[in-house]
Amino acid sequence: MSARLVLATHNAHKVGELRAILAPVLPGLDPSSVVGARDVGAPEPVEDGVTFAENALIKARSLAAFTGLPAVADDSGLAVDVLGGAPGIFSARWAGRHGDDAANLALLLAQLADVPEPHRGARFVCAAALVTPDGFEHVETGTLEGVLAAEPRGAGGFGYDPILVPVGETRSCAELTPAEKNAISHRGTAFRALVPTLVRVLGG
Ligand code: IMP
Repeated sequence: MSARLVLATHNAHKVGELRAILAPVLPGLDPSSVVGARDVGAPEPVEDGVTFAENALIKARSLAAFTGLPAVADDSGLAVDVLGGAPGIFSARWAGRHGDDAANLALLLAQLADVPEPHRGARFVCAAALVTPDGFEHVETGTLEGVLAAEPRGAGGFGYDPILVPVGETRSCAELTPAEKNAISHRGTAFRALVPTLVRVLGG
């Protein structure tokens, strides 16, 4: 079956996640018709927005225009209370080099070294945007509230997972199973909130 929905990511895991969320609510949708940006050879636009929502919309607009298909994009990061919401949209390159997770995490921990637990509140934030070729746009946001641990813990996940302990948990996100994290994550929440609009756009 030809593509009906494109997801603006090169991460096959995220495509699988969206397929899994859509399968039960859109039984008529062939999972293979939900494809990633790489599958369609889409260019990567410059993400020059200053909010998660703006950057998600930039990616989804670019992909909808390129493919002529409804497009979904997400943008996410970590917002730390005591840093006024930073690293925020700079989460992936906080230490200078894009995607250097270990350096980003080490820098953040050093910056917060003297901040005691009651002031170590933080959250993962994800904006998920849907844009159709005829100009319809919709954004949903999800958050995962937590507290930042003093030391990294756990081997799972990626990015800042080893230091975010979700509210009500004793384990860091890197100590949760993927299913446990998906069930409460900012990305899972944002994607699930987008589903009713996706169902309408894709025609149930
Ligand atoms: P992106 O939206 O996938 O580009 O993620 C931006 C950056 O935010 C990542 O490089 C991570 O540093 C951070 N981030 C976003 N979501 C998560 C998460 O679920 N766990 C840990 N770090 C995350």
